[in-house]
Amino acid sequence: MDCIFCKIIEGSIPSAKVYEDESVYAFRDINPMAPVHVLVVPKKHLASMDEVNEENSECVAAIFRAIPKIAAAEGLKNGYRVISNCGEDACQTVKHLHFHILGGKKLPDQMA
Ligand code: AMP
Ligand code: ZN
Repeated sequence: MDCIFCKIIEGSIPSAKVYEDESVYAFRDINPMAPVHVLVVPKKHLASMDEVNEENSECVAAIFRAIPKIAAAEGLKNGYRVISNCGEDACQTVKHLHFHILGGKKLPDQMA
């Protein structure tokens, strides 16, 4: 499949890995929007949040178990933001479900 994040997970495209377990992979965003900008993705390819369902949602639970561990490892003691862009209106550019962890500075209070 022609998916850049699947290629990152399998290692054929390099990434700056920050966390990995059985079902989750996390790496630094190539175009960081904050001092800490990590992308957390399921190893299983899901195109977006729209594809999450009863059969596959365990990988999302695993992502949300990983996020506080990643935040602690990144030193985000003062808080952080988690974002997932889904579809056109949210400007999703990579069609593999991913969660942005943003932190390391005071973030803007306006989300949209
Ligand atoms: P989104 O707009 O939510 O789909 O976010 C996709 C994110 O993936 C953007 O923040 C990009 O900077 C990031 N990105 C794209 N290609 C790579 C890559 N090869 N390595 C790391 N991050 C990437
Ligand atoms: Zn993929």
